[in-house]
This record gives sequence, structure tokens and C-alpha cells, in this order.
Amino acid sequence: MSSADEFRSPPYHSAPHYSAQCRCPTCGAVQTWRDECRRCHTDLTLLRQVDGEIAVTLSRFFQAMKRNDRYHAKILAKRLMQLAPTSFHRILRDF
Ligand SMILES: [Zn+2]
Repeated sequence: MSSADEFRSPPYHSAPHYSAQCRCPTCGAVQTWRDECRRCHTDLTLLRQVDGEIAVTLSRFFQAMKRNDRYHAKILAKRLMQLAPTSFHRILRDF
């Protein structure tokens, strides 16, 4: 796999989940992952894609750290901060 391939977007809808459950942004119902909220029927597909992108990006971040590739780790850390700033800010702010 070339460096460029590593940063090509995979199909995030089929990626593993970062979070075990999702909270509906409309009504707050906590539920297992699904494309539509069980309570209010809000479309959750975008939320699901973002969660998948977080899982993939976090995995790539740890892989870059493991091989001491700080250049790509920093790019991935910035992406994680964009995707979930409240979750990763304290961990990655000094990276
Ligand atoms: Zn809902």
C-alpha cells in the first residue's frame, strides 16, 4: 500500500464503529447503531459515517505512531480533532 492509498477514503458506512452505541442528535435516544432513530425516525446515516471515519482514522493514527511516522500521525490527529473535537482535544492538543 502506498502512502497515497493510506489516505484515500474507504467506504465509512461499512467501517467498524468507534462508539458502541449512538445518541440521536434530535431526541437524545441512546440506541444500537441503525440508519434511523427508533424513537423519532431521524436519519442517522451521516452520524454513522462520521463514527466510522473516526474509527478508521484513529486506527491509522495508532499505526503511524507505532512506526514512528510523526508526519502522518499529525495529519491524522488534525482530522480527529475536526471529527470529534470534544473527544480528542485533551489527548491531541499538544501533538
Ligand atoms: Zn431520535
